[in-house]
Amino acid sequence: MPGKNRRLRLIFGGSFDPIHVGHLAVTAHLQQQCPDAVIHIMPNHHSPGKKEQVSATHRLAMIKGGLTTLPQLKVLIDETELQRPAPSYTIDTLKFLRSRYPTDTLAWVMGDDVVNTFHQHHWDGWQKLLSEGHLYIMMRSGLQMATDVQQFIEPRVVTSADDLLSTTTGSVVIDTTFTPVEISATGIRQQLESMPVESVSGLALPCKKYIRAHQLYGCEHFPDTPD
Ligand code: ATP
Repeated sequence: MPGKNRRLRLIFGGSFDPIHVGHLAVTAHLQQQCPDAVIHIMPNHHSPGKKEQVSATHRLAMIKGGLTTLPQLKVLIDETELQRPAPSYTIDTLKFLRSRYPTDTLAWVMGDDVVNTFHQHHWDGWQKLLSEGHLYIMMRSGLQMATDVQQFIEPRVVTSADDLLSTTTGSVVIDTTFTPVEISATGIRQQLESMPVESVSGLALPCKKYIRAHQLYGCEHFPDTPD
């Protein structure tokens, strides 16, 4: 039976600048939907589409801190992109992971906002992602694919993550069962410009403490609020 002994690896990549409760909710949902999958959280080195605000070391430390609030999650913090030369191109990472896990099935996890920007310059050649693995799309702001993206994706959509195990590449899961969490790292960084980190919503407590301790995102402009 094809795929009988294959393991599904869900690769959740991003800037995590900083990791927030939206990222944590995605991770928890993935584990619930695919309990046998290995979930990789993959912080990027430098994304071609955006400029990171704080160093990889700080982003990594906050990922570790944020995950301590959900001890039931079995997640692999994957430093593959941090160890490779910047910038991080998803296609190169997928190729690398395929050589590292030749018998497993890889699916790249992304919010629908990313799919909505496939036609932009920094995602040049996005179709190639499906030659190297599968895509797992999470609901976020609402899927609004450009026509050419839709024409490419639609015939490849499968109904469940289990279907991904029957092939190694070329399928797409659109997971509509995830309840979107309206939070973004941009929104958090904006909050940090106008209030003490302790008052910011959408961050796990260990991340708040880390931001305060290391004076990240300009939080030093707002003194700690006494208890
Ligand atoms: P920024 O606001 O700086 O663009 P972000 O909040 O989108 O950051 P990233 O680290 O860039 O966070 O996102 C990594 C991945 O997580 C992307 O695929 C993104 O779509 C997804 N993601 C981030 N936040 C959410 C959320 N609230 N719900 C669903 N997916 C999310």
